[in-house]
Amino acid sequence: MSTKLETVTIMDIPFVNKTYKDFIETVISATIDEEKQFIVTANPEIVMATRKDATYKQIVQTADYVVPDGIGIIVAAKLQKEALQERIAGFDVMTSLLEKADAHKLSCFFLGASEAVNEKAVQQIQKTYPNLIVAGRHHGYFDISDTEVQEQVIASEADLIFVALGFPKQEKWIDACMPRCPKGTFIGVGGSFDVFAGNVKRAPDFWIKWNIEWLYRLLKQPFRWKRMLPIVKFLWLIVRKKD
Ligand code: UDP
Repeated sequence: MSTKLETVTIMDIPFVNKTYKDFIETVISATIDEEKQFIVTANPEIVMATRKDATYKQIVQTADYVVPDGIGIIVAAKLQKEALQERIAGFDVMTSLLEKADAHKLSCFFLGASEAVNEKAVQQIQKTYPNLIVAGRHHGYFDISDTEVQEQVIASEADLIFVALGFPKQEKWIDACMPRCPKGTFIGVGGSFDVFAGNVKRAPDFWIKWNIEWLYRLLKQPFRWKRMLPIVKFLWLIVRKKD
């Protein structure tokens, strides 16, 4: 059982209201104690997706932790007059968990992305974090109803399982696999493997600091403009207080 943290609810989704540092410490001490836990790093797109998919909504609502990934969530909390302490970005959480895994010699499973990206990301991670144990890895292009990959993860006995299948696939896969595992911290990390593999560049610090990482991404990958629409709709609904 995870330690439940204080939350702020936005569109029925309870967001962790902790500092980034406190959150990482809570997760790592539970991982060392071999507790099972499920972390969702949710941005406005994920919140909007839960409105259209009741199964997905229930999975997100019952995860141990939903962290506010994306400035849109922070702005929404402010508009609700229930400010969240800090943004907790998925990529940063993955990086901190890898650092902690290196420090405590924890074992990690890397599931997701194409075979080439997965292989390269794991190689880079091993180079940067030499004390971390790679318990296993698998690409993300398989039928999620097939339990073969679940068997591999169960057999690996990994402490941390990073799942990069994009939403809602990654959370649905975790929801199916986690009850079958004796332990493990499971986290959906979206496109993070692409960043570790060096295929996608994360925004420079300046853009992150000023909360305009989304603008950097839009300028770098303008073809993704359509993915901004749920964010605009999300904020509009918050302003209108409609849900
Ligand atoms: N992906 C995967 N299997 C799939 C669909 C996607 O492994 O069936 C991977 C994809 O290769 C990419 C990641 O999931 O590495 C999703 O990246 P995206 O940036 O779309 O995710 P987001 O961070 O927006 O959830």
